[in-house]
Amino acid sequence: MDFHDCIVLYGPELTPYRCDRFQTKGDTIHAIDLQEPCQSIDNGALVIIPGLINSHTHMGDACLPDGATGMTLEQGFFRPNGYKYQELAKRSEAEHYAHIANHLRYMARTGTVCHIDFREQGEYGSQLLRRASAETGVRSVVLGQFEELPFTAEELTANEASLSDEAIAMLKAILQVADGFSESTMNDLTDPAWKQIREITQQQNKLRAIHCLENSGYREESIRITGRGDLARALDFYKPDLVIHATVADASEIEQLSANAVNVVLNPRANSNLGLPFAPIAQLMTSNANCLLGTDNGLLNSPNLFAELDFTYKVAKSQFGNAIAPDPTDVLKMATSNIKGVIDTGTYGYLAPGLPADFVVLNFHQPHLRATRHIVASVVTRVTPDDVLATVRQGQVLFSTPDFDIAKRDIKCSRKTDRL
Ligand SMILES: [Zn+2]
Repeated sequence: MDFHDCIVLYGPELTPYRCDRFQTKGDTIHAIDLQEPCQSIDNGALVIIPGLINSHTHMGDACLPDGATGMTLEQGFFRPNGYKYQELAKRSEAEHYAHIANHLRYMARTGTVCHIDFREQGEYGSQLLRRASAETGVRSVVLGQFEELPFTAEELTANEASLSDEAIAMLKAILQVADGFSESTMNDLTDPAWKQIREITQQQNKLRAIHCLENSGYREESIRITGRGDLARALDFYKPDLVIHATVADASEIEQLSANAVNVVLNPRANSNLGLPFAPIAQLMTSNANCLLGTDNGLLNSPNLFAELDFTYKVAKSQFGNAIAPDPTDVLKMATSNIKGVIDTGTYGYLAPGLPADFVVLNFHQPHLRATRHIVASVVTRVTPDDVLATVRQGQVLFSTPDFDIAKRDIKCSRKTDRL
């Protein structure tokens, strides 16, 4: 594919440059011929940005949009009797699969090339998502979880039991399919079990993730059982690659996240939809934690990262308490270049020659974008799904609009023309 006379957000700093030619060959970016940096435009342009990465989803419950409206976190989402688990158990495989695949296509339509998913329903659930990912071309990083919790309430309270041989066999079966392990909360398993899971996933080079501090109940229950908060236990026993939420993180917990350079996935739309506080986004952004962005449950939110970027930027500005910070580029990095090194060594989240051809073509000829004074701020706050012309992953077109003939492979767009 060749694009001429476009604007490219280049490199890990996502710096906008005018570009003579953006060329891909096969699954790789072959050449980016940069001109000068460019913050504003007067008469529209094609703007090429890195393919977006959604670092926290539950696409399995995307078949129930807004189903938990009016419910608490516990009523809607906790095992075994929460609405989500009750409803998922009723879905036929064919119906459930169709919903997941269609939502992956919607992700592609909204600029996302990859998502990291907490997949319920054990080995079966991981297989279902794996299949939908293969069909749609959107990369699913699948983090499986137990179909049913392997401990009784009494065993969890005693916090001494290890995983049984049967539970270990189930875990290994999940990991045969999945890229890693996830669990709802630290309070769902015992500390010995967390250590076992860490060892097994480390041996297999698999990822580990966990929701922490989504509400204060997570911390309180953890202290009641073990005398320690859920984040401290996670960092000690489980050593997660990703900590999700940190919504109610206090000063000492922010310090722990910073000192351990934890990858923290923020989900401010989902948190607010449950009436929860906003995570301390501004404090985390100025710490050594690495901030990523997710849309969380399909039940709560559409998996549209442009909506999440806009919301996150506005909340962060309010928390910083001035009109200057943060730089919108630092928010866009949460859905792009901050992913480098997190899930594997081959995922970069930015555009440079020799890297995977994972990108999105945005139509900045649209009336609300064509005279932007700040291209990155407009990507973060003004781009809507209707402005996405094409989404490409490893050179494969996952989505393109009918009026954008990407198959021509030579798309010229004068800076002076008003229309494509
Ligand atoms: Zn979640």
